[in-house]
Amino acid sequence: MLRRICTNAVYIGKRAYEEDGKEVLVKGDWPAIVDEELFWKARNLLADPSRKTTRPGRAKYLLAFFGTCDVCGAYLARLGGREVNRYRCNGPKGCVTIRMDWTDMFIGHLVCQRLAKKDIFELLTKHDDTKKDLAIELEKLRASYQEALDMMESEEISLRAFSVKEKKLLPRIAELEETLRPVTIPKVLEDLTRDARGNLATIRTRWMALDIPAQRDVLRTLFKSIRIRKTKTLGQHKTDEQIEYMLRERIAFEWVNE
Ligand SMILES: [Zn+2]
Repeated sequence: MLRRICTNAVYIGKRAYEEDGKEVLVKGDWPAIVDEELFWKARNLLADPSRKTTRPGRAKYLLAFFGTCDVCGAYLARLGGREVNRYRCNGPKGCVTIRMDWTDMFIGHLVCQRLAKKDIFELLTKHDDTKKDLAIELEKLRASYQEALDMMESEEISLRAFSVKEKKLLPRIAELEETLRPVTIPKVLEDLTRDARGNLATIRTRWMALDIPAQRDVLRTLFKSIRIRKTKTLGQHKTDEQIEYMLRERIAFEWVNE
């Protein structure tokens, strides 16, 4: 029932019809009864593959396809096949690699310190309403992208047709995501800080207890970017001090709203 309401364009005052096999929305002559931004959000949520019970592709690594390579801008991916996992630039050059356990630990420190700030929620929620139209556009584009993906998977369109569409959609999606800061605080973030009164140890314990998908939600809310720089210091990092120094040198980041 919820699904039917949420995916029916009538509720945002629009009429859907089909043109060349595509769904086209035009303004209907009735008033919208639900908020348009919410409508697209719900529609994307319901189409989200992670909602399926098997949860394919559930994130296993904290920074994979979130953090980027500082050299070429490609996402980081996991580099396996060694005694310890590493993150590796997923671009053609594989510009950088860095130990995963150390990097995740370092990011965890940053997160907990940030959440121990008293005004963290005010900081995160400041935004202006002029971004509303952009938010609607973003949700629409995400819906089109998901639709194209679904059509390719069910072989209604070719891989080639999908790539064309993807090339058109993704840059704008990325641009809008950059412009639109998160304005809602995920529940997990509230759980981390509730009654902690800035106590770092409490926040830290809770952070460690979270699974990776939940930790990634927190990162998405807090960070504008996390980038891995090329190594400057060659050789072994043995002591804690050496490791920390190396991580400070190599991990660049930007907070949201700062
Ligand atoms: Zn790279």
